[in-house]
Amino acid sequence: MFEKLVVEKLVEEAKNWDRERQDNEIPAKMLAFCWKRYSSTDVEELLQNPRVVIGTLLHRGLEKYFGYEDKPTSVIKKPIGEYVIVGMPDLVMDDVVYEFKYSTSPPKEPKEWDIKQLRVYMWLTGKQKGELVYFTPLRIKTFEVSEPATDEEVLDWLRYKWAKYRWECVRCPFRHECEHRLI
Ligand code: SF4
Repeated sequence: MFEKLVVEKLVEEAKNWDRERQDNEIPAKMLAFCWKRYSSTDVEELLQNPRVVIGTLLHRGLEKYFGYEDKPTSVIKKPIGEYVIVGMPDLVMDDVVYEFKYSTSPPKEPKEWDIKQLRVYMWLTGKQKGELVYFTPLRIKTFEVSEPATDEEVLDWLRYKWAKYRWECVRCPFRHECEHRLI
């Protein structure tokens, strides 16, 4: 079936990219979430969700149109403390960092964790302007983000590695034994 072919291709691609990461390298996106849950997320399982598949394909399409075809060479790294933050912004064009999201409905406000992720990408790239772009079946909605994360914020986010949002724990496989759970 075609859906199986698509998922296999996306899984293979994701696994190839992740092999490049060193132990002290922290993905920018992970700073917004629980490290344990984030690190244990199985990409194959994640891609069983059609929304994730559509969102990933949307990213691939945009990367082709805007010249970001080879993601691993677009990895940006910045050391801070004992860590190196690594990230692959969806698109950096002129002075703006763009972060693309796929959503089933247009959000009234940007999600706090999406803003945080984009602010870390702005910190990584040294850009002062960012734009969150939510693609939905009804509308494409954009939000401007104007402040890059500061060194102090990044260090602070590196210090606390557990869930910041209750919904993370609701869906977490470790919730029953975890002393840091928020539910
Ligand atoms: S229960 Fe919450 S804090 Fe604990 S590992 Fe899961 S997401 Fe993290």
